[in-house]
Amino acid sequence: MDSDLVAANIAKLSPSITLAITSQAKKMIDEGEDVCSFGAGEPDLDTPDFIKEAAIEALQGGKTKYTASSGILPLREAIQEKLLLENGIEYEDPTQISVNCGAKHSCYQAILACCDPGDEVIIPAPYWTSYPEMVRMVGAEPYIVETKAENQWKMTPEEFEDALSGRTRMVILNSPNNPTGAVYSKEELEALAEVALSEDVIILSDEIYEKLVYNEKKHVSIASLSEEIRDLTITINGFSKVYSMTGWRIGYTAAPKPIADAIDTIQSHTTSNVTSFAQYGALAALRGDQAFVQDMVEEYDMRRQYMLSRLQGIRNIKVIEPEGAFYFLVDTSPIGLSSTNLAEKLLSRYKVAAVPGVAFGHDKSIRFSYATSLDIIKKGLDRFEEFCLSH
Ligand code: PMP
Ligand code: GLU
Repeated sequence: MDSDLVAANIAKLSPSITLAITSQAKKMIDEGEDVCSFGAGEPDLDTPDFIKEAAIEALQGGKTKYTASSGILPLREAIQEKLLLENGIEYEDPTQISVNCGAKHSCYQAILACCDPGDEVIIPAPYWTSYPEMVRMVGAEPYIVETKAENQWKMTPEEFEDALSGRTRMVILNSPNNPTGAVYSKEELEALAEVALSEDVIILSDEIYEKLVYNEKKHVSIASLSEEIRDLTITINGFSKVYSMTGWRIGYTAAPKPIADAIDTIQSHTTSNVTSFAQYGALAALRGDQAFVQDMVEEYDMRRQYMLSRLQGIRNIKVIEPEGAFYFLVDTSPIGLSSTNLAEKLLSRYKVAAVPGVAFGHDKSIRFSYATSLDIIKKGLDRFEEFCLSH
């Protein structure tokens, strides 16, 4: 973007590459091309019927009007209860929970609510593509910490401490991680929490992949570690991944009261409430039988194990076993191409869509999402192997 018509702050931004690759792949498929898409992290499964039925019932029952800006009370109470029972985080007041238009919106509003122009926000790389751009949108500055493959792409407390400056306002943690699949242990989070507390750095904890953990790993919410750390943390989650509800656009934020109130104010002047009947679907999702979640995790785990064994057998690349989410970040440095160049070649010549690592702050890699069928995974990896052998 380069135009006098656009604000300087916005002209610097790049569009979301994850969404761009996915729509390019969809367009090619619509035009009849045989593309294997490992693009956006979007579950291939449909939203469970009981959730759809609750939304239809709400529509038919006339739940078609504005709701409270931060969401209907029963949904906020259900989230409050879920955070207590599943995550061990106790919020006294349901108004500390705000329901937003997708966890992407939750992240943006949380950053907007807390960061002034000039503030620094620490983001461990590889990172989800939208964080640095959101930080720039509010006039704050991303401070990128390069994590190491030998640390399973996790930020160490020493790296966090070294990144602190007088201007540090926030740190963004994302466990399980997109794009690396890294999952922080309780001990690792405790060590990071100690650093955050030492300088009162606000923690934005994006936990959208919390249910997608493998190898008996456990997801831990950093806000559950102590009251002190809870009072410095914004916990973000959503319905897109676990309930296959990407198109519904529902996420949520749980925060200390002053931040929750600020988010409510922002939302009341911008989007207002999330679509009324979609909120009733989300309520049913939380209150309903969660049995399908286990089946879904088993399905992803089966794909993950298949991909791991295939990728480990391909020469010219390196791969670390991901323990969460539904991505592989494949190190393609031996191939020697920039990630954009590599992704373009892979798509145009081999009909495989994957996201270049540059989108995640790691230009020597490419991200494969395995939220797609095993048939596509098999065919796509055959083609990827052919591509790697030719380099
Ligand atoms: N956080 C992370 C780490 C993600 O990968 C995504 C992508 N879906 C989101 C937040 C946003 O999800 P949504 O807006 O669909 O709730
Ligand atoms: N978060 C998903 C991804 O990383 C969906 C695309 C997006 O929201 O950017 O692919």
